[in-house]
Amino acid sequence: MPQSSPNFWKNKPLAALSPDEWESLCDGCAKCCLHRIEDEDSKEVFTTNIVCRYLDQDVCRCDDYANRSINVPDCVSVTPELLEDPYWLPSTCAYRILAEGKDLPQWHPLVSGSTETVVSSGNSIRGRVVCETEADDPEHHLVQWAS
Ligand code: SF4
Ligand code: SF4
Repeated sequence: MPQSSPNFWKNKPLAALSPDEWESLCDGCAKCCLHRIEDEDSKEVFTTNIVCRYLDQDVCRCDDYANRSINVPDCVSVTPELLEDPYWLPSTCAYRILAEGKDLPQWHPLVSGSTETVVSSGNSIRGRVVCETEADDPEHHLVQWAS
């Protein structure tokens, strides 16, 4: 298997990344698995602490990643094409950050060398959410996440 060059995300456009490089950009924060409320006119996005039922909250990974679009039809698979206007992704999402021409933050696992920095920096949703099967009105669950 070809090895990625150090700092590959700085040296290649997103569309040129290998599948492994692309997947490694995901920091595992799981903020994209939260329910959001979007103002259709302003495109402003409000996030909640309600999370998809398929998320394994202990490890912040999808329980059925291969079938996520079947299980949850509005679960969006991030692609370079979708990143042309990435306003709907969390502001800390690595895909959005790179699409906006910025560099990864120090807490990103590819920079820090550890997935624990996602938690210690306050960017993981681990232990801070409620499953959608147990939540009431989303407007009662609005949360400002780390940005
Ligand atoms: S918000 Fe971005 S970095 Fe975080 S889990 Fe979702 S795709 Fe990965
Ligand atoms: S189906 Fe999986 S990837 Fe999609 S929102 Fe739910 S937990 Fe996240």
